[in-house]
Amino acid sequence: MSTALATDVGVAPAAGEKAPLIGLSRAALADALRGIGVPEAQARMRASQLWHWLYFRGVTDFAAMTNVSKPLRDRLAGCFTLKRPEVVAEQISVDGTRKWLLRLPAGGAGRPVEVETVYIPEEGRGTLCVSSQVGCTLTCTFCHTGTQRMVRNLTAEEIVAQILLARDRLGDFPDAETPQGAIVTIEGRLISNIVMMGMGEPLYNFDNVKEALLIASDGDGIALSRRRITLSTSGVAPMIPRAGAEIGTMLAISLHAVRDDLRDELVPINRKYPITKLMEACRTYPGLSNARRITFEYVMLKGVNDSLAEAKDLVRLLKGIPAKINLIPFNPWPGAPYECSDWERIEAFADVVNRAGYASPIRTPRGRDIFAACGQLKSASERMRKSERELMAVNPLQ
Ligand code: SAH
Ligand code: SF4
Repeated sequence: MSTALATDVGVAPAAGEKAPLIGLSRAALADALRGIGVPEAQARMRASQLWHWLYFRGVTDFAAMTNVSKPLRDRLAGCFTLKRPEVVAEQISVDGTRKWLLRLPAGGAGRPVEVETVYIPEEGRGTLCVSSQVGCTLTCTFCHTGTQRMVRNLTAEEIVAQILLARDRLGDFPDAETPQGAIVTIEGRLISNIVMMGMGEPLYNFDNVKEALLIASDGDGIALSRRRITLSTSGVAPMIPRAGAEIGTMLAISLHAVRDDLRDELVPINRKYPITKLMEACRTYPGLSNARRITFEYVMLKGVNDSLAEAKDLVRLLKGIPAKINLIPFNPWPGAPYECSDWERIEAFADVVNRAGYASPIRTPRGRDIFAACGQLKSASERMRKSERELMAVNPLQ
C-alpha cells in the first residue's frame, strides 16, 4: 500500500514499519483496504467492520476481529498496526485524577517525543484532557507548557490514541479486561467528556485535531457527542469559524484578561488577534444558544487580573454572547512569576459575574500533586528536575 494513505493525516511510518490504521477517516480507511486488494464492492462494508473493532471495541489485535475472514485478518496484520503509544508513567492523584506520560515516535523531531494525557473523574462524569502538540509555540506567561519549546504537532492517530489508551487503562471498552498493572477506581468511572486542554494550541494543528475529533464523535465508534467535546483555544481568531463549521464541538476561549495591554502580556497571541477580533469570532460561532454556550477561561492571578473592576469589565465584554465563565485558580509551577488570587477574592469576583447572570464555576484544582492540573503539563527534554518536583510536592498549593 502507499504510505500516502497514512501521511495524509500524520507522520509517515519509517521504512519497513507498518502503517497505522488509527486516525484515518472512514474514507481513508476504505482506501487503505482497497490498497491491500479488498474488492471495491466490499471496501466500505469492511471499513465499517474495522471501524467498529477499532473504536467501539478497542481491539489492538487483528486476530480478535471475528467477523473478518482469516486471510483478510492476516493481510491486515501484515500491512498495518493498531499499536498503542508506550506508557512511560501512570500516576494517580489523591483526588483520583490520573495522568499518563506517553512516548511517541520521533516523527521528524529527532528523537521520540513525550506527551501527557489527564483523566479527571467527577461526580457523574469523567473528563479526558487531551494534548494536541508536544510543547507549544505560544508563550503564555502563566502556563508551564508555554515554557517548553514546541517540538511537533501530534498526528490524528496520536490524538485519537490518547483516548483509546485512556479507555484501555480504565477498562472502559465494552467487554474489555483492564490491563494488568493499570490503576482502576472502584467505581470504574468512564470517559464521558473530552477537552482539548492538554499540551499545545489545537487550532495551530487544525487538520489533525479536526480528523481526530470527527473520529471521537462518530456515532459508530467512540461516540462522544460533540456537545461533550470542548476545544480550547488561546484565541486563534481566524480559525474559530472553521472550527465551528468543520468540527462543531463546544468552544472554550482562554481569555484571562479584559484589556489588550494586559492580555498582550499574559497571552501574547493577543498582539496578533486582539480582544475585539476574538470577540467578533466568538459571536459568529455556529449554534450558540443558552443551552450551547462558549466557555471563557479566566485564570485568577493575584494582583494581576483579579480586581472587581475587571470582573465588571468582563461582564461588559461578554454582553450578548451566550457564555459561561470558568474561574481557574492559578496552578503554580517552579519559577512561575505569579501567585494564585486569595480565595475570598476569587469568590468576590465570581459573585460579580454571577450577579450579572453568568454561570461562573470556580474550577477546583485537580491533580496538583501529580502536576496534572491546568497549565502544569510539560514533558520530555525539559522535564523538571526531581528536586524541583519534590519541593512542589511538599507545598503543592503554594
Ligand atoms: N492552548 C490551548 C489549550 C490548552 S488549555 C489554550 O490555551 O486554550 C489549558 C488551559 O489552562 C487554558 O485555559 C490555559 O490558559 C489554562 N492554564 C494554563 N496555565 C495555567 C496555570 N498555571 N494555572 C491555571 N490555568 C492555566
Ligand atoms: Fe500554549 Fe495554551 Fe499554554 Fe498558552 S495556555 S502556552 S496557548 S498551551
